Amino acid sequence: MTVFCATKMTKRDRTAWFKGGSADCRDEVAPGGRAYRLVLLGAPGVGKGTQAELISERLGPCQLSTGDVFRAAKTLDASERTPALNAALDYMKRGELVPDETVIGIVRERPNCLRCPAGFLLDGFPRTVQQAEALTGMLGDLGVKLDAVLSYDLPVEQIVSRLSGRRTCASCKAVYHVATKPPKVTDVCDQCGGKLVVREDDRPEAIRVRMEAYEKSTAPLADYYRQRGLLISIPADGSPDTIFARTQVALAAR
Ligand code: AMP
Repeated sequence: MTVFCATKMTKRDRTAWFKGGSADCRDEVAPGGRAYRLVLLGAPGVGKGTQAELISERLGPCQLSTGDVFRAAKTLDASERTPALNAALDYMKRGELVPDETVIGIVRERPNCLRCPAGFLLDGFPRTVQQAEALTGMLGDLGVKLDAVLSYDLPVEQIVSRLSGRRTCASCKAVYHVATKPPKVTDVCDQCGGKLVVREDDRPEAIRVRMEAYEKSTAPLADYYRQRGLLISIPADGSPDTIFARTQVALAAR
């Protein structure tokens, strides 16, 4: 069995999340005796992924990312994929958002993850009010209560400045940041010597367009959870450890 503490980093076993159905995991106990059941919200660029990893590794809930399920499914044999997963991959191949009923089907195929005694941290689901309503229904059927919905918030201009400093290697795709993770030689990849470029979707105008689309689609979702007294807004400025400390304080108060 895995041992947890507040500072020791531990990776959760996500077998059941990736495989679905009756697949089992080796981790079944919440560290510190408290199982957290959480949903994470946050625009691209706020550091939601980093916080998801820190919360999972330090507080114990398993990170359940629907995007990770789809990415992992690409490497499975067709015979290992459930019908809902096959349908989702067709949408992803076309670069589209997966329809609500398909994503809901994927989560519904994983009830063991929602009732896991170690808790869970949903990341990337729900993305719409219809998905949130379905999740409320699934949790109700399983007799499981959500503790909180953590929304990581940062003003658009700060997101633009963070993302527009990102540089990506044109050859090996390694990612740098001019301020927080600069390469040894300007615009040259440390790993392969390739040229570092600004990705099309990291240009300020493209970022603003993405932010507006995100705000439009998630504002109703935030309202849904605010009305149910579950939404906690966490300022996402500062270092990952600072933001994690705010998260811990907010969770301790519940
Ligand atoms: P993510 O890693 O969360 O950005 O997800 C990667 C991709 O998976 C998205 O661009 C969508 O195509 C798909 N996806 C993941 N989660 C959802 C969701 N809840 N609703 C619709 N599409 C999703």
